[in-house]
Amino acid sequence: MNQLEPVTVTKYEKVKPTDYWTFFCNPRKWYIDEFILSGEIKDRFTVSDYHRNDFKAGQLGVIRVGTDRRTKKQLAGKKRLDRGIYAVVEILDAAKLMKGTHKEYWEDEGDADKLRYRVPIRYIKRLLRTPILLENLDLSADEYDKFLIEGQQGSSMPLNPLAFEKIIDIVDGSETLEFNFNESNNDTISIAKLEKEYFDAVPVVKERVSKYIERGSIAQEYKRRTGFKCQVCEALGLNPYSFKKPNGEYYIETHHVIPVSELQAGSLSVDNLITVCANHHRQLHYGDVQLIENTDDKFAFSIDNRRLEVKKVKGA
Ligand SMILES: [Zn+2]
Ligand SMILES: [Zn+2]
Repeated sequence: MNQLEPVTVTKYEKVKPTDYWTFFCNPRKWYIDEFILSGEIKDRFTVSDYHRNDFKAGQLGVIRVGTDRRTKKQLAGKKRLDRGIYAVVEILDAAKLMKGTHKEYWEDEGDADKLRYRVPIRYIKRLLRTPILLENLDLSADEYDKFLIEGQQGSSMPLNPLAFEKIIDIVDGSETLEFNFNESNNDTISIAKLEKEYFDAVPVVKERVSKYIERGSIAQEYKRRTGFKCQVCEALGLNPYSFKKPNGEYYIETHHVIPVSELQAGSLSVDNLITVCANHHRQLHYGDVQLIENTDDKFAFSIDNRRLEVKKVKGA
């Protein structure tokens, strides 16, 4: 009779989530080329069980296509895809047990009907014609991501944020990502909603949310309240008006005093806005500026070591 040998279990170490994801796409099972060509931008991507609780709205990811093993018949005249990155996507919500969408792009339509952990995503950069080929992706040791480059069996894996940053550089920067915050209207209620929705968003996304709000109707209302003046110029005793626009209004920008990237409740709301000229806006972002006081009725800044107070303008 044999003695039972102790069993050595190779334990899978869970890869730590990073707020960035690689989604692995097998074009033989799911026709990403047809999906992108259709102009659809929303989808649900199956995720690995390991990480099903780690997905949050406002995270970002890439769709990585592995070796395209479609038969000639399956290709039906289409070009075989090279191994590479074919899209940048935004995660819209947590992963839930649900069915897929867009049956028509699955090789086996039944796959779309299966209840699986899936995450809703939106394509914010489509690269079907200009994919980033893995063989050309030159990552430094810090940027390297084994799963992105070598592939793996599962459907999703945390992505090295530095690799993501590099990819965004290659596709001409985060400004070119096509976010769509318009789905909610830019009023107070939806700002509160955006704030909640994007609480865990990665910095690039938070910044875009805040720019969207700075340009929206809330900001417009606040500009009216401050009379289209630069509140910093005014506090310095300078002419607070910039040039006039064709519609006769003075040009002015709005700024979030508490950076939205440090998102705290309320940081997107009107109490966190001041109006500033283009030059002071740049200075607030890039100059030697600290917020030293934030009370009910004023902000106090230290700008080049000089104290400056800006009154909070309350609603009419
Ligand atoms: Zn100014
Ligand atoms: Zn700003």
